[in-house]
Amino acid sequence: MQHRIIVLGAGYAGASAAGRLARRLRREDTAITLVNAEPDFVERVRNHELAAGRPLRHRPLADLLAGTGAALRVARVTAVDVDRRAVTVRDADGESELDYDTLVYALGSGWNDQGVPGAAEHAHEIAGREGALRVRERLALLEAGQRVVVVGGGLTGLEAATEIAEARPDLDVALAARGGLGDWLSPRGRGHLREVFGRLGITAHEHTDVTAVHADRVTTADGVSLPSALTVWTTGFAVHPIARATGLETTESGRIVVDATMRSVSHPEVYAVGDAAMVTGPGDKPLRMSCATGTPTAWQAADSIAARLTGGKLPHVTIRYFNQCVSLGRKEGLIQYVTADDRSVNAALTGRLAALYKELVCKGAAWAVAHPTLGLPTRRRAVRTAAPAAPAATTRPATETAA
Ligand SMILES: Cc1cc2nc3c(=O)[nH]c(=O)nc-3n(C[C@H](O)[C@H](O)[C@H](O)COP(=O)(O)OP(=O)(O)OC[C@H]3O[C@@H](n4cnc5c(N)ncnc54)[C@H](O)[C@@H]3O)c2cc1C
Repeated sequence: MQHRIIVLGAGYAGASAAGRLARRLRREDTAITLVNAEPDFVERVRNHELAAGRPLRHRPLADLLAGTGAALRVARVTAVDVDRRAVTVRDADGESELDYDTLVYALGSGWNDQGVPGAAEHAHEIAGREGALRVRERLALLEAGQRVVVVGGGLTGLEAATEIAEARPDLDVALAARGGLGDWLSPRGRGHLREVFGRLGITAHEHTDVTAVHADRVTTADGVSLPSALTVWTTGFAVHPIARATGLETTESGRIVVDATMRSVSHPEVYAVGDAAMVTGPGDKPLRMSCATGTPTAWQAADSIAARLTGGKLPHVTIRYFNQCVSLGRKEGLIQYVTADDRSVNAALTGRLAALYKELVCKGAAWAVAHPTLGLPTRRRAVRTAAPAAPAATTRPATETAA
């Protein structure tokens, strides 16, 4: 009997996990199925580029899995029954069920409107490909001088505002941030950000809390009304509600609580990786949703599953931060070096070199999905046991490789 492994979601984390598992386990012993709503791998880290009108490379998932033995199922996951070990999926032929012995949950995240009135109706998101394509369509309809307001002063907001301002210098681009502009960055990083905002003509509304969104404006906690022909919402990500509807232990926000091997602390046959997982990182802090840490969580999960099934040694992947890589349009960038737990240190790379660095990071992230064992030779091992072990205690990720 083959051990059935189902991987839900083919973003950075899920596609890496499926590809790595397929290269670690013998085909005759395992049946690996990767389920994804779309047939293509989406480079989410480039959604702001897509929104601003840049073409993106088409990356069919079938090509990524070619020759690995893993199967692709293009379908939308609608439910997971962790007691019966079954996943409900829907495609053009209707609903069906997929049974599993081991599940890897990697459905990622979408936008988070934070419950702000009018945001869901009037704001546009770039957390997903469809949203980014809608922003692209809306931008194309705007006339010179019209105002775009990007809400959110985090990494995604900075990248979106600068990308749009560079691509459409005829528009009036503004960014509303709850704090100061880039206030978590080093002085050099903050200074550079202000300089680039100035050069691109972006107005920064700092210490501004947007409390409502309307079709033609946003209003703030101070009662100020900012005209907006297009509002782009980038105030963080939220996970899909599917995990919370299962018996899996999740956080309040719906992320699956896992141990250091990415195994669910409540259901040992379930693993969670990427944005969907609540992983404790360096300094006992939860990892923020990012592909920089999402991909190593996939390596950790895949190698742990393979080790448990083949009787090998459990791996330990160190999951830590090195830098925050921010594109500021195509010609400018900012690489803010950080501590292992993501706090800025007093060193940053700026300018064209930083833009080039960031471009290499994006290319590297997509390359790593296509080469989930990082090009190193692997030996497919025989499955010895298919029985899931007892739940492990929650521990911090330990030592070894890094993103
Ligand atoms: C504009 C932008 C810029 C970013 N820049 C950076 C950056 O520079 N560095 C960084 O580290 N991170 C960055 N991020 C964050 C990063 O993209 C995410 O953290 C990362 O994509 C998470 O990977 P994941 O595999 O967990 O989920 P995702 O990439 O979201 O993949 C989830 C997959 O699951 C599929 N899926 C979802 N629901 C279902 C369903 N019900 N049924 C079937 N399939 C489903 C989706 O189609 C998708 O393929 C950025 C994000 C955005 C939006």
